[in-house]
Parts: sequence; structure tokens; C-alpha cells
Amino acid sequence: MPLTSKQDLRDSYPFGLLAVPKADLATYHESSGTAGRPTSSYYTEEDWIDLAERFARKWIPIRPEDTFLVRTPYALMITGHLAQAAARLRGATVVPGDNRSLAMPYSRVVRVLHDLSVTLTWSMPTEALLWAAAARAAGYDPRTDFPALRALYVGGEPLSPQRRARISEIWGVPIVQEYGSTETGSLAGECEYGQLHLWADRAIFEVYDPRTGTTSAEGAGQLVVTPLYRRAMPLLRYNLADDVEVSDADCACGWQLPTVRVLGRSAFGYPVGNARITQDRLEGLVFGLPARYDVMFWRARAEPARLVVEIEVADEHREAAVQQVTRDIDRLCHAPCEVTGVAPGALVPTRVLTGVHDVLKPRSLFGADEDWDKALLYY
Ligand code: AMP
Ligand code: MG
Ligand code: ZN
Repeated sequence: MPLTSKQDLRDSYPFGLLAVPKADLATYHESSGTAGRPTSSYYTEEDWIDLAERFARKWIPIRPEDTFLVRTPYALMITGHLAQAAARLRGATVVPGDNRSLAMPYSRVVRVLHDLSVTLTWSMPTEALLWAAAARAAGYDPRTDFPALRALYVGGEPLSPQRRARISEIWGVPIVQEYGSTETGSLAGECEYGQLHLWADRAIFEVYDPRTGTTSAEGAGQLVVTPLYRRAMPLLRYNLADDVEVSDADCACGWQLPTVRVLGRSAFGYPVGNARITQDRLEGLVFGLPARYDVMFWRARAEPARLVVEIEVADEHREAAVQQVTRDIDRLCHAPCEVTGVAPGALVPTRVLTGVHDVLKPRSLFGADEDWDKALLYY
């Protein structure tokens, strides 16, 4: 069988890969890809049992006593629904806090985390840093003022060991990573030794080397997956085009499942001079700074001849932080760079962290002193 590509899925939009009567479908989704034709995925109720069970495989398990904040999108993508289904399967209380809804600004996330004694969360790693900043802006200490919190489940974007360690330190709880996609659901989850294991009992995994056109069970390349338990939309040798490294080496946890390192679609990076800069590398450097410098937010631009980096850092640590990052980029990336320390709030404005946003229902009649520009366009 040839590989199935993302383009094959696009060409089948919306129901070209439907393998059951449409009446048997439970949900329809599209993945986060922005431009061009969407990628559709659909699942039956039976498919949903497999999906929810795979997501629920957590070494820090979901329990009936848990209050579980779901902070990933519900609109079209699978991720929010997936976490919700898994949490309900295990009997937890779900708080549906979609991260792309205007109804849920950061100030409200912090209130919910605190006042509801949330015990588990599901989000992208970046979210957990934004909550930390928002919590501090609200006068809380993330490490001590959220004692109910047991773990942060994260996924959806690459996470370097350094950033992971920092997030864990800031919140004082373990990070449990997850890897998956809208087209497949969960593909890998973490054991207590911090390794991501592929759910090889639920899908056949291969690693594709685009240079040679060959696939193998281990090594570096693009991840190819054949899910074994799905009815609505079977996939054969689907190439996710995520750069990964798969290994069959034993892990101390004893799970007989291969491990995977996910570099995602950004593994290739950008050229600067003769060097190639990846986000993973830079992230490692920035989060390798001493924790007391408290650097959480940064951005970088790869220009042809130099790398321009900005880090948010308070005055008292600015010089030391900039020096260390400059030195590390020089030493580890061999790229000319210009690192600037910007004031806290420059990259993530405080109003984003503290702002409240009224989400009203639509109305057409207004009082004399009310703003009738809010008519109909209520959001
Ligand atoms: P979507 O199909 O829109 O749900 O997004 C899925 C994509 O997000 C994957 O194909 C990966 O590129 C990326 N992704 C998800 N989880 C992880 C993870 N733990 N580490 C790195 N990338 C991830
Ligand atoms: Mg569906
Ligand atoms: Zn393990």
C-alpha cells in the first residue's frame, strides 16, 4: 500500500473517506491547519470509545474526584472533545474552558483554577505559562495558591525538556505530555519516567524517510500511522508529516511500547548565516536560564545574517539574562545574534492577562445612555 498523505485527506473533503452509513457518525472535525482546503475527520460512537480510552491513559490518572479544566479548542478540532470524553469516561467533573473562546479570558481561567479547586488541566504548554503570568497579575503565587492542582496534561506543540521543567517548577506539579492529532486522536502518552510511548497496541507505527522513500520501525523521520480500531474513517499508512525519533529501547516503566520524541513540523528551522536555527534549540537556551530570572516569554526572528531575539525579563536580571542567552546562542548555534531584554508586558501585555470581556446575548433595543453599536454583534 502507498502512504496516505495529508493531501489525500484534503482531496477527500468532506466525506470522501466515509466508510459507514452517515447515520452512524457521532462527530465531525477539522484539524487546525489554516490555509487551503480543510482536513476532515469523523468518528462513530464506537470510535469514540477507543479515542477516549487512549486519551485517558495517564500515569497520573483521571479520577471521579477530579475537577478537570479543558483548555483547548472545541470548535471543529477534536482536542477539547477528546479530553472531555476521557474525563467523563473516568467520572471526573469537566470544566469546559475552551482556549479560543472570548468567554474565557485569562482572568477567568485563573478564577476557575483557583475557586473551583481544579485538580487537572489539559492545554498547550504555552497556556500554562500564560496562566502563571495571569495568576501573578491577580495576586496569586502559582506554586502555593493552587493546592488542589495534581498535574498539568499538555500537548499540541513541541516542548523542550527545559521548558517542561520550568512549567513544572512554576506550578509545583508534574507535567504529563500527550501527542496526537485531530485525524488520529492520541498517538502517544507519557510514562512516569518522562518518556512518550506510542500506543502501538492501538495503531501500527512506521517511520518514513523522505530522502530514501523507505520506512522502518525505528529511527528518525516522519511518523506514519495505521490506526487499528476505527470505523467511520479508516486510515492506512497515514503520513502525519511530523518529524519524530522512534526508539524500541527498553524503558524503566516496563511498558512494551516504543518511545517517541516529537519535533513536529518545525524541526527544520530557519537559516541564519551558515547555521540553522530551530525553535527547540532556542527554547532550550531560554528556559535553561536560572529560574530566578523568571523568563517565560520570548520571540525570535531569523534574518539572513543574524538572529534577533527578545526576552521578557525584569530590570534586575536583564543584563545577566541577555549575556547568558547571547553566549549560549554563540556557543551552541554558532549564529550571529542580537538579544534584547524587554520589560515584562512587552510581549504578553498585562491587559491580556487581567482583562475581562463581557460576552452578552444579542439584543436590538437599547436605553438612551447605552451603546447601541453593540446591537446584534454581541461578542
Ligand atoms: P491537529 O491535527 O490540529 O490536532 O494538530 C496536531 C499536530 O500538533 C500534530 O501533528 C503535531 O504536529 C502537533 N503536536 C501535537 N502534540 C504534540 C506534542 N506533544 N509535541 C509536538 N507536537 C505536537
Ligand atoms: Mg465525524
Ligand atoms: Zn516508559
